Amino acid sequence: MAGGHIEINDLCKMFGDVVAVNHIDLVMESGGFFSMLGPSGCGKTTTLRMIAGFEEPTSGQVLLDGVDLSHTPPHKRPVNTVFQNYMIFPYLNVYENVAFGLRRQRCSRSDIGHRVGEALELVQLGELANRKPSQLSGGQQQRVALARALVLHPAVLLLDEPLGALDAKLRRQLQIELKALQQRVGITFVYVTHDQEEALTMSDQIAVMSHGVVEQVGTPREVYDEPTTEFVADFLGISNIIAADAEPAPGGGARLRVGEFTLVAKAGETGSRGAVKCVVRPERVRLEPYDSGGENRVPAIVEQLVYLGSATRVVVHLATGQTLQSLIQSDAGPLPYEQGTAVQVYLPADAMRVLRPTGQGVTERSRALSVNRRMARRWSLAPYRSRRSKGPHSDQSTGGSSERPR
Ligand code: ATP
Repeated sequence: MAGGHIEINDLCKMFGDVVAVNHIDLVMESGGFFSMLGPSGCGKTTTLRMIAGFEEPTSGQVLLDGVDLSHTPPHKRPVNTVFQNYMIFPYLNVYENVAFGLRRQRCSRSDIGHRVGEALELVQLGELANRKPSQLSGGQQQRVALARALVLHPAVLLLDEPLGALDAKLRRQLQIELKALQQRVGITFVYVTHDQEEALTMSDQIAVMSHGVVEQVGTPREVYDEPTTEFVADFLGISNIIAADAEPAPGGGARLRVGEFTLVAKAGETGSRGAVKCVVRPERVRLEPYDSGGENRVPAIVEQLVYLGSATRVVVHLATGQTLQSLIQSDAGPLPYEQGTAVQVYLPADAMRVLRPTGQGVTERSRALSVNRRMARRWSLAPYRSRRSKGPHSDQSTGGSSERPR
């Protein structure tokens, strides 16, 4: 078993009166790529720093492979952190930067040579071992920082917006590389970002955070296609949010009253009654000729067309008063609309998702996690027991980590 299984229980951090992290529960699977995604100030870095040991929790626990890390100082935790500003030594060349941690651990010269060579190959910097950081591009410097962390064979790699300082094109390239690297080394990556595209591209699981709480945890597809709260729907991609009055529909789903129109929603909190918000993604909003009829169709006027290359974004103003966006792929051919065209907007019932109010997204997930947690604890104790004779997580950051499977 690879190890690197993290469990966060009821974790809380206060800075004076500021509640940075507000009773969160998370399970990060061993060998997975887990991202914490949210706007500035939502508490993701503070959570990461509590896993690293740079911040002490006000209450709650961080368990690694079943072991409570509360009393383990940062340098004794089997985790390494890669920061946005690289933190590599300008006066050491690439090789020596990567070798630095191993030298502190008093590894043998041959072990250092072997492990540094391996780490540099992993990040494709084998050819540049003799260069100083000032002779490297931003992307190459970030790879040095990655190699320096990976060479210590941590159970968990923590990454705090590591691509934040790079330009958009390089970021995209490194996102793909980073994901491939994580799959090759098979260790748990915990990644902090405010960039939804980055999180969606790389992660196995994403925790979407807001104001110190976890709004939703799920796979990229789940959080994008099946957002549970208005915050998640709004934060991930362009969302069309519709305010409505709900009641259960006789044939299943929710019947939504929107102005003078009645729509049916078949996804999300369809048992809701009263004032609700509903989301429909732009790629599911279909534009039809004005004279087409049927369920879930609302007349509208095309307000704006924005050509995006691979698709066109069409902004429509509905007869209900709302403005929605429809995304139409360019391979559909030239669009038969222009500004002012009257159309019917078809909102398929299975694409209409009734949301929970923001801030309540975590409730059911927490319940599910508490069940998961009991199961996770059962299996995660096994590696702990097998390592206990050597001392659990014994001095991984400073030298005892070479036994950890890669
Ligand atoms: P960013 O993306 O901007 O880094 P974040 O989501 O990582 O934001 P945190 O850095 O975790 O957010 O901060 C969460 C909250 O805690 C913010 O309101 C921040 O101002 C506050 N905070 C963080 N560190 C401290 C500190 N040392 N003292 C006081 N308040 C702090």
